[in-house]
Amino acid sequence: MKKNPPNTVADDVVVTLNYTVKVDGDTVDSSEGSDPIEFIQGKGMLIGGMERALYGLAAGEHKQFRVAPADGYGDEDPDAIAEVPRGEFPPEIPLEPGVELLLKDEDGDEMEAHIVSVGEDTVTLDFNHPLAGKELDFSVEVLALRWATPEELDHGHVH
Ligand code: ZN
Repeated sequence: MKKNPPNTVADDVVVTLNYTVKVDGDTVDSSEGSDPIEFIQGKGMLIGGMERALYGLAAGEHKQFRVAPADGYGDEDPDAIAEVPRGEFPPEIPLEPGVELLLKDEDGDEMEAHIVSVGEDTVTLDFNHPLAGKELDFSVEVLALRWATPEELDHGHVH
């Protein structure tokens, strides 16, 4: 058993964190207005570039850093754009650019996509993550640190 609480972010530490992510100055994701996030450091629960930037931070510390696409949501894949006949969409789905969709592939796995454009006969879908290919500007504040319990490490999530 580790007796002393962790001083800084390290592997197997449960981190409570506020964060904001901006792309070109616009906020695209944030814990503001909701609860801070909690995760076990070193388990790949975050995108790689974010997890790496947190090592060594103490509770109460703020940090700003930039994450490149390779350490974030990857580069945009031009092959992940698809034309789908309009008739394949149920009538309740609004066919407008920007609409986010949750689709199932042949294996029943869920895939997220968003509508790029709507033509006369087809709808163009983009299956890339909305933040693929983007430089992400993070601003974080560490709120609390504690060691993960053996049970949490075993389960791979925070209790
Ligand atoms: Zn559990």
